[in-house]
Amino acid sequence: MNTIKLLPDLLVSQIAAGEVVERPASALKEILENSVDAGASEIAVHIFQGGTKLVRVSDNGAGISRDDLPLALARHATSKIDSLEDLQKVASLGFRGEALASIASVSRLRLASRGAEQKHAWRIEAEGGRLSEPEPAALAKGTTVEMHNLYFNTPARRKFLKTDGTEFSHCEEAFRRIALSRPDIAFTLQHNGTARHHLRAADTRRRIAAILGDEFSQTSIFIDEQAADLRLWGSAALPAYSRSSRDAQYFFVNGRFVRDKVIAHALREAYRDVLHLDRHPAFVLFLEMNAGSVDVNVHPTKTEVRFRDPRALHQFIFHTIDKALASPQSLSAASVSV
Ligand code: ADP
Ligand code: MG
Repeated sequence: MNTIKLLPDLLVSQIAAGEVVERPASALKEILENSVDAGASEIAVHIFQGGTKLVRVSDNGAGISRDDLPLALARHATSKIDSLEDLQKVASLGFRGEALASIASVSRLRLASRGAEQKHAWRIEAEGGRLSEPEPAALAKGTTVEMHNLYFNTPARRKFLKTDGTEFSHCEEAFRRIALSRPDIAFTLQHNGTARHHLRAADTRRRIAAILGDEFSQTSIFIDEQAADLRLWGSAALPAYSRSSRDAQYFFVNGRFVRDKVIAHALREAYRDVLHLDRHPAFVLFLEMNAGSVDVNVHPTKTEVRFRDPRALHQFIFHTIDKALASPQSLSAASVSV
C-alpha cells in the first residue's frame, strides 16, 4: 500500500503554476494585473526573447513594504480580500494570492518595491522557491517585478515554449487586453530593447484607436445601452470590417477580459445576418453589472466567469448589438474589408 504524504510547498506551487503560468504571456498578465490593482498611473513593460529570458514590469503604484515583500511571494497571501464576503463583491483583478508564488516557483523572480512610507526601496529574490533576505534597493517609487528564465527548473514545461516571436505575440496580446481595459493608465511595451507600444493616458475611444487602428475606429459604431443592472458600452465594428479570425474580439466584464460561451453566442447571433459564415466580427465591449451577479472565482486565470442569469444577459447583449447594427448610423458607414 502507498502511504499518503503532504507535498512540499515548492511542488504545490509548481503544480499550481501549471494552470496560472502556461507561458510567458500568462505570467505577464498576472504581473500587469497587480500593477493595475496597485493603482499605478504608468506601467512600463520590457520583454526579452519573447519573455522566456526576461519579463520586467515597472509601475508607479502603491508599492509593498519591506516586511510584506516575502508575503507577496507566499502562496495564499493577498492584500485584496479578507473574507468570503469580499470575494463575492471583488473589485480588484487579483484576489487569489497565488500568482506571484506560482511564477516564483518556475522562474527566478526579483521583486523591488518602495512603499509610500519608506525612505528607500527594498528588493528580494526567489529562485526555485528559496527567498533571499530583503536588501536595500534604488527605486524612486512603486514596484518592479522581473521574471527571469521561465521554466529554468521545469524542463518538461520549457519544451512547450514556442519561438520567441510567437511568445512575444502572446505577450503583446496580454498587454493589449490590459491596456484596452484601462485607458486612464499610460503604458509602454518594449521587445528586446525596441519600442513597440507607447500609449498615453486617454479616453476609451482614443485608446481603442491607438490599439486597433483608425480603420477599426472609423468602421465601428459606439454603443452605450443600459437595462436593469446591466450596461453594455464600447465599439462594435460594422460588417464591412469583418475579420478572417477572432483576433479583434475584446469583451470585458467589470473591467476584466473574459472569454465566455454565452457572450460569444449572443454576439455571433447578432452578427449572423450581416456576416458571411467564415467571417468574424470585431469589437471592444465593456459589460458592467453588479459584482454579485457574476462569479469570477471559476478558474485560476480568472478569464472564465459564471453569470447568475445568463439568459437575461444573452438577450440584453443580442438586442443591443442587433439594434446597433440596424441603426442608420451603421447603414451609412463606409465599407472597408480586412
Ligand atoms: P493577488 O493579486 O491575487 O493578491 P499575487 O500573488 O498576484 O496575488 O500578489 C500577491 C500580493 O503582492 C498582492 O496581494 C499585493 O499585495 C502584492 N503585490 C504584487 N504586485 C504588486 C505591485 N505591482 N504593487 C503593489 N503590490 C503588489
Ligand atoms: Mg495578482
